[in-house]
Amino acid sequence: MLTDGLGVVLFLGPLTHLELVRRELGGRFDVRHAADEGAVDAVLPDVRVVLDASMVVPFGAERIARATKLELYVTATTGANHVDASALAARDVPLLTLRGESDLLQSLTPAAEHSWLLVLACARGLRAATEQVLAGGWDRTRHPGTMLRGRTIGIVGCGRIGQWVGRYAEAFGMRRLGYDPHVTPWPDHIERVELSDLLAHADVVTVHVPLDVSTTGLIGETELARMKPDAILVNTSRGEIVDEHALVRALGANRLAGVGLDVLVGEPDVGRHPLVRLAATDARVVITPHIGGFSPDAVSRVLAFSCHRIVQALGARV
Ligand code: NAD
Repeated sequence: MLTDGLGVVLFLGPLTHLELVRRELGGRFDVRHAADEGAVDAVLPDVRVVLDASMVVPFGAERIARATKLELYVTATTGANHVDASALAARDVPLLTLRGESDLLQSLTPAAEHSWLLVLACARGLRAATEQVLAGGWDRTRHPGTMLRGRTIGIVGCGRIGQWVGRYAEAFGMRRLGYDPHVTPWPDHIERVELSDLLAHADVVTVHVPLDVSTTGLIGETELARMKPDAILVNTSRGEIVDEHALVRALGANRLAGVGLDVLVGEPDVGRHPLVRLAATDARVVITPHIGGFSPDAVSRVLAFSCHRIVQALGARV
């Protein structure tokens, strides 16, 4: 349904939001929806704009090369590690993410709420408790749980999500330690410490940094060894930030009371992932499929914003 010739927008995201995308683009683009690599590849040579809210289809150099009409790549997410930014730059194709869109981002809390869910799930041993009930058991003595009030949370990365997590922790009566070498101004509700002190004192360590060279493997063997043996670790940022092999070894040595993960290296292809395999028999490990930022109301807001960017970038100059 090509309308007035502004080209094909390939929308990767929930089908439930396709009509919203069409409406927000003002009917001026030919919007096609794709949910997997095959559907993307079928339409790729015609695509002028990618609007990516799903992050499930990797856009490496080879796929980008086949998108010969591509002029703009817009993600409705802050991270875009599945996209080869240098391959786009070499073609002068702008890559617009939500990073730095602070007004919009400050209003979005699902990823912080989900991080808090993982903290609570680990603190209360939620998996083991629900699995026991499903198996016909009802023995409360096997699930003592941890009272969070008075405990210490260590927030690694005190930007948007880390600050929200700090606010929730404040409401729970927890001491809040934070490590972030860059953020300004420093958030009032978090005590600033070095990473080594945070790790040594926190009952809960929660990771909220972008993935880059400085954060790849930020929580590795040494850092895990520094944590309290009964601490909880939560990562909703990117899988590569935690050394997953070191994490498997730590859990195998019966360190850590709980691990909550919304992100894994190699996602979405995680069938043979060592932590997924471990989680099959170890209820301390709670894994969700990168759903932190995914709530329909938040997705509507970021998609409307992203559509507006597309219209501004391309609609206006045709
Ligand atoms: P942000 O940019 O607002 O905050 C990140 C903070 O990390 C910044 O304050 C920065 O100074 C700090 N930082 C950078 N390098 C650091 C380092 N080496 N050590 C400590 N701190 C460092 O980002 P955000 O919006 O809060 O997002 C945080 C993470 O959450 C990102 O990885 C993002 O991709 C991820 N995220 C995941 C989901 C999900 O669905 N699970 C949703 C949204 C965001």
